[in-house]
Amino acid sequence: MNHPYDCLVIGAGMAGAVTARELAQRGNKRVLLLERRTHVGGNAYDCLDERGVLIHQYGPHIFHTSDKRVYDYLSRYTAWRDYQHKVVANIPVEGGGRTLLPVPFNLVSLEVAFGVKQAATLEKKLIDAYGAERKVTILELRASPDRSIAALAEYVYEHVFVRYTMKQWGQKPEEIDPNTTARVPVFLSRDCRYFQDPWQGMPQEGYTALFERMLDCPGITVELGVDALSRLRLDGGKITLDGEAFTGTVIYTGAVDELFGFAYGRLPYRTLDFRFESYDRQFFQTHGTVNYTMDEDYTRITEFKHLTGQRLREPVTTIMKEYSRAYTGQPGEIPYYAIINEANNALYRRYAALAATYPSLKLLGRLAEYKYYNMDAIAARALALCDDLLK
Ligand code: FAD
Ligand code: UDP
Repeated sequence: MNHPYDCLVIGAGMAGAVTARELAQRGNKRVLLLERRTHVGGNAYDCLDERGVLIHQYGPHIFHTSDKRVYDYLSRYTAWRDYQHKVVANIPVEGGGRTLLPVPFNLVSLEVAFGVKQAATLEKKLIDAYGAERKVTILELRASPDRSIAALAEYVYEHVFVRYTMKQWGQKPEEIDPNTTARVPVFLSRDCRYFQDPWQGMPQEGYTALFERMLDCPGITVELGVDALSRLRLDGGKITLDGEAFTGTVIYTGAVDELFGFAYGRLPYRTLDFRFESYDRQFFQTHGTVNYTMDEDYTRITEFKHLTGQRLREPVTTIMKEYSRAYTGQPGEIPYYAIINEANNALYRRYAALAATYPSLKLLGRLAEYKYYNMDAIAARALALCDDLLK
């Protein structure tokens, strides 16, 4: 092989960065990493905006995991700021004004919504039916034979789920993959955190610094602003890079339909439009994220300073509003969320079967695997893939 590299990694997000580091360090491989964007970090990338506020360019990212291996691994590249994410739903109330309901809907939300007395009766019913500290999905709760639990489920469905899900997916909760709404269950607890994982927080100096450290390793060559598909060719089971046969391992973390020129048609995704706004004050809202579950066109507002703990001399803060819509593949659009259903999974499997005809090609990551993975799951999968490759 004439290439000076043993492995090619495409994409410098969590999947590509962990893989590149492991192959180079643990496997002693020479790794070429190609990234289309002009920066590393994939969708977890963060940077300072023009007011000096640390923002997440591609949507708010909070690290949380129950996987000790992943936590220990990422801790090699960053210290952590302790941050426990809390979310509230901003709900208009009859007669004017608004109320803030903890999300996931929990026993505190129950009191905010129904008052302490009625909440106590409902709480007892719920705990008798499901057990204390249990997480129950909204779809399960709606199926309850108990009339007062079913009525409560309707309240939660109406006030927390149905409009938000319509905005996010263009479909109702019962029409989308049940695992998606299960991410935000009804929680029979007074724990108002969004996640209950034992390890959660934010990288002390941000995600980009974490990724830069991870990729700073002998054996890794990073080329930014390069679309790998302009240099890579897959044909008849053979892979060429820059016109020459490449027989080393290729780890691809981009969209798989794009890799094969949309040969079987496009895989459907949702994309997001982000609107950033800066305000000359210390804080805009009380919580890191406020969900708009009843009105407004956007799904949620995140205020980065709550997440990052950044302190600035000037009273300035930046928020981000998220608007979801169908991904059409227009230039500049980013496929953020795979739309998981039977038909789309079947289409994905055809692409995966085509990929399998190239034994040295590995599909890894949220796009390449067409799944709804959090960062920690991607890091775990990258480590497992490298365990396998380096056996
Ligand atoms: P990506 O981060 O998408 O990286 C893929 C990289 O490949 C990109 O940089 C892309 O430019 C590059 N690429 C693609 N094609 C090519 C090509 N042809 N040539 C060169 N480069 C290419 N997870 C959490 O754990 N906590 C959160 O709070 C959280 N919040 C999220 C919020 C939003 C709005 C979204 C969309 C996701 C969130 N996630 C969160 C999930 C998280 O973003 C993913 O799990 C993680 O980024 C996946 O890493 P990846 O490497 O698979 O993909
Ligand atoms: N969801 C909802 N209302 C909320 C929060 C979440 O209906 O206030 C539903 C919605 O369908 C959403 C899903 O639960 O897409 C998962 O929410 P999560 O916050 O995990 O989404 P992400 O942060 O991945 O966009």
